[in-house]
Amino acid sequence: AREQKSELVARDLTVRFGGLTALNKASLRVKPGEVHALIGPNGAGKSTFVNTISGFYQPTEGAFELDGIQLAGKRSHEIARVGLSRTFQNTELFSDMSVLENVMVGYQQRLGYGLVSALLRTSDMRRQESECRRAAIGLLTFVGLEDYANEEARFLPFGLQRRLEIARALAARPRLLLLDEPAAGLTTQEIDELEVMIRRIAALGVSVLLIEHHVELIMAVADTVTVLDYGQVIASDTPSVVQDDPRVIEAYFGT
Ligand code: ADP
Ligand code: MG
Repeated sequence: AREQKSELVARDLTVRFGGLTALNKASLRVKPGEVHALIGPNGAGKSTFVNTISGFYQPTEGAFELDGIQLAGKRSHEIARVGLSRTFQNTELFSDMSVLENVMVGYQQRLGYGLVSALLRTSDMRRQESECRRAAIGLLTFVGLEDYANEEARFLPFGLQRRLEIARALAARPRLLLLDEPAAGLTTQEIDELEVMIRRIAALGVSVLLIEHHVELIMAVADTVTVLDYGQVIASDTPSVVQDDPRVIEAYFGT
């Protein structure tokens, strides 16, 4: 477990695309070590939030910080280095690489050198690579993919590709892990396994921000649920309180 658990604070984040306000003064706090779910109807701004705090979009207004380090305006690789790592709504693996290599790329992103420089390998780099390989195998074991290490990523069944994406995100040693709809397209059994995995990740001391539609998964795994609607935060509380909040019910079922 980590000695220090991490906190994300976003204050009044606004993101506009031309005339469209995708996020409207959204504030959110992921407390140290918690699993925090971000939910809301389609188009509510969930992916925009994740894309903004991971540095893919720039906020029009507002600020966000991880453990007191201001991140607004920083680029995605700088934010990753501070300790924020993510998966994508649509899986983005290196499909021609092996399962193991996909995880090793995650480590190399942290070490700050790419596969290209691996061509100029010094003995020091070779040693780093073998450490990296050992750590990657450890992570594959953590997500239950150790038997697939040498398969090409594109030959993995969809549910296992999703696990690989999580392993790769963990390879960057995040303090906060962002999961954008990790249950999408999974079977009921795979969702149960995902639930266990999210708990184990949180038990490592990694805070988790989970964007998800799957209500049962959220109820089972989230400590806090924040609800976005039309880019605004309309509720943020425990799952059972949020579930009974009239504004939330209105946002989902109202006309
Ligand atoms: P969610 O993930 O909650 O379904 P999104 O964050 O993807 O919602 O989208 C919120 C709104 O912002 C939508 O109206 C969407 O069309 C718009 N949007 C998202 N990304 C972009 C972009 N890159 N350019 C223009 N509009 C965008
Ligand atoms: Mg989305």
